[in-house]
Amino acid sequence: MSNLIVQKFGGSSVANPQRIKVAARRIAKYKKKGYQIVVVVSAIGDQTDELIGLMEQISKNPPSREMDMLMATGEQVSVALLAAAIHEAGLEVISFTGAQVGIITDKSHTKARILDINADRIHEELKKGKIVIVAGFQGVTLDQDITTLGRGGSDMTAVALAKALKAKVCEIYTDVDGVYTADPRIVKDARKLDGLSYEEMLELASLGAQVMQARSMEVAKKFNVPIHVRSSFTNKQGTIISKEVKAMEDVLVSGVTANKNEAKVTICGVPDKPGIAAKIFSELAKEEINIDMIIQNISRTGATDLSFTVMGTDLKRTLVVSEKISKGVGGEGVTYDKDIAKVSVVGIGMRSHVGVAAKMFTALASRGINIGMISTSEIKISCVIKKKRADEAVKLIHKAFGLGKGGRK
Ligand code: ASP
Ligand code: MG
Repeated sequence: MSNLIVQKFGGSSVANPQRIKVAARRIAKYKKKGYQIVVVVSAIGDQTDELIGLMEQISKNPPSREMDMLMATGEQVSVALLAAAIHEAGLEVISFTGAQVGIITDKSHTKARILDINADRIHEELKKGKIVIVAGFQGVTLDQDITTLGRGGSDMTAVALAKALKAKVCEIYTDVDGVYTADPRIVKDARKLDGLSYEEMLELASLGAQVMQARSMEVAKKFNVPIHVRSSFTNKQGTIISKEVKAMEDVLVSGVTANKNEAKVTICGVPDKPGIAAKIFSELAKEEINIDMIIQNISRTGATDLSFTVMGTDLKRTLVVSEKISKGVGGEGVTYDKDIAKVSVVGIGMRSHVGVAAKMFTALASRGINIGMISTSEIKISCVIKKKRADEAVKLIHKAFGLGKGGRK
């Protein structure tokens, strides 16, 4: 068994010099236990947002290559500081950018995919007994252009390195104790989960539980990389994310989320005939707009309304495209609603239990919360409701499934 571990520290875990020193002490402690350690770091605090804000003052539509050039600097700052802190602690250490350790990506700037990792340099340094620190979130194309891996992409760097280096575990250090049954800021008796399957974490991450980047979970799942999400402030065991185990199926639901960043768009009165939906959604896909839920009503008059949800940040572009499409197909125009939230329950137990949807709908109905749209998958049920009722809905559903005290561990 490998004695190599990957430890990833998120922005909040290196937010100031004090925290950087705390992270360095933890890394040193593990090194002294005899592990080989590869550390991945995010930019400190909210630095990535600040860099984006800076660019916005220069250009509303900057070249994505330059966006990457800018954003990647954040992680170059944090690797240097963390390496120096470890050096202060008397241990041998070396920091690298993504390019220096051969994290090769495609050319999709700001959301690049890793194609290959050439880990020779890392192995060399580990062999010399050094702790290796790698800048998260960034890579390089074969043409030597710097790329980034999408927001939250340090998780991707960590998971991909853990896979490439055959690490024993990929530890994700953050400012919470692990993955919770619901956002503890909203639900007071939300509990930390001891274990979760890749699929559940993937759903939770996509639904807006901001613990891990969703794309990184796809990679973890595909290659079976063991993940441990834990706090950088304590030594407590966090949440282990792994292949599903039988015990997980015995519980109906593992988590409840609310995503308040979506908007609903309706193209009204589109002709009810073959090919229209294909046309609409191909146009949106061409613009790289991600569609989430879709509803098409029954038509009584030969025309129908088509509603779908998109990320709030994509709304403006979606409306432009939708207006164009509506005109093109002889529709009656486009309306939208930003005042929505998507509440969801997730759990692999749903595969083998019935009545989950009924229980969720009953909980919402008990306080007269109206459901606008519904979508389901094998392990997830989502409802669109009014945004102002989202927190209340999450509490109701959390309670209805008994996720507080005595729920799933
Ligand atoms: N610093 C990058 C971001 O804020 C990557 C990361 O934190 O994982 O998105
Ligand atoms: Mg992050």
